Amino acid sequence: MASTPAVSADLLARYEPVIGLEVHVQLLTASKIFCSCSTRFGDPPNSNVCPVCLGLPGALPVLNRKAVEFAVRAAMALECRINEVSIFARKNYFYPDLPKGYQISQYDKPLAEFGFIDIDVNESKTPGGKKKIGITRLHLEEDAGKSLHEGFADSAHKTAIDLNRTGVPLAEIVSEPDMRSPDEAYEYLTRLKEIILYTGVSDCNMEEGSLRCDANISVRPRGQKEFGTKTEVKNVNSFRFIKQALEYEIERHIGIIEGGGRITQETRLYNAHEGKTYGMRSKEQAHDYRYFPEPDLLPLVVDEKWQAAIRAGLPELPEARRRRLMKEYGITAGDAHTLTLTRAMADQFESAARGAKNPKRVANLVQSELLGRLKAQGLELEQSPISMAGVTASADLVESGAISGKMLKDLYDLCFERGQDFAAVYEAEGRPEQSRDTSALEKLADELIAANPKQVEQYRAGKKTMIGFFVGQVMKASKGQANPQLVNEVLTKKLG
Ligand SMILES: [Zn+2]
Repeated sequence: MASTPAVSADLLARYEPVIGLEVHVQLLTASKIFCSCSTRFGDPPNSNVCPVCLGLPGALPVLNRKAVEFAVRAAMALECRINEVSIFARKNYFYPDLPKGYQISQYDKPLAEFGFIDIDVNESKTPGGKKKIGITRLHLEEDAGKSLHEGFADSAHKTAIDLNRTGVPLAEIVSEPDMRSPDEAYEYLTRLKEIILYTGVSDCNMEEGSLRCDANISVRPRGQKEFGTKTEVKNVNSFRFIKQALEYEIERHIGIIEGGGRITQETRLYNAHEGKTYGMRSKEQAHDYRYFPEPDLLPLVVDEKWQAAIRAGLPELPEARRRRLMKEYGITAGDAHTLTLTRAMADQFESAARGAKNPKRVANLVQSELLGRLKAQGLELEQSPISMAGVTASADLVESGAISGKMLKDLYDLCFERGQDFAAVYEAEGRPEQSRDTSALEKLADELIAANPKQVEQYRAGKKTMIGFFVGQVMKASKGQANPQLVNEVLTKKLG
């Protein structure tokens, strides 16, 4: 099918999508899962190979302990139950980038099961705004090699194979078919990636293939219990494209069903250029993988002691951290959300907030002054010219009234222009201070008091909050340059 029949919003609303996701995450071990070859990305093709990962006769796999630890850590972070005994199995199929003719994976006894991720969903439809997406299983397996279809002189009629990736450890994370919209799928992937990044077991770099996602999708008339026939969309390389591919598939399925046709169970590829999916191979003709237990590996035993040791090394996870930051530093949910996007950012915020006079102001500065400037220059937080110590120092200067908000903005601009930290720029500019000269302020205050007799009367009659009105007027007249504390002092004196 080359194009999507246009599906009206009415029709779309009559069907319910059912989505399940399979995510492969490459584990950040230095060596491969069953041999000591390096896992480094970008090395010359076929330079990191040995008899084991090439599948030469007689070579025997030896399990990488670190890969197991990383997979268990990920599984724990995803609230899975760890199976004390799991079994490696051979998944047999033929493909040019699979030299052994089978992949060592796990089948009926996976490393971990029964996990979940809480995702944010529309609060108007779901009270509390949270939904649990089940994780069926997390298992360990080895990666296959890579087929290179372009980049060589004879690429038009030949495919090159790079086996550096063969045997790189993967955790496959299979969700329950619990998602009901492409948005939920997007949210699930975002949260999953965030959690995995916090655990530090993978860099989740989609461009380098360290996070890959296959999506299973079907539709059914709302109210129907049975699932419809599903299709699988494979190898989509961004979350945004996965969402688009799912949107496309939902409309395609509905169009076929409404037209009296039948969905073919098959694997499809998404062409991001055209925004369409194309059939790749029919599942009905797909291989029977003839799984059987891997005879060269013992059952994997992760006993209670080992589990406890891994659990002890689990970092605080994003959701828990958000809740704690809000409580501890009095910041808003929105601030907490932004500040916990990466573990590094959260760590930096906390170290800054701990030393600051007012943590809320630090959160505010990061959100309003730092992230915006970074984004405008296409920089990551790690590349920021202003360190968190610089943010703290500047927040304290504003807090004490030494500099104004406007002055801080100007100093931040200079930091970004010069690529220098706040302390250096503040010194270079001669430690600027907002004016403590009260004569101009007093003049402004006198004028205001004369021009607003009604407000003055209210203030003197006991409505002390009226001071805010006067402070606001003075700040406005000084174009934000005045020191609010000083303004307050002068006005209190004059009005009293
Ligand atoms: Zn090897």
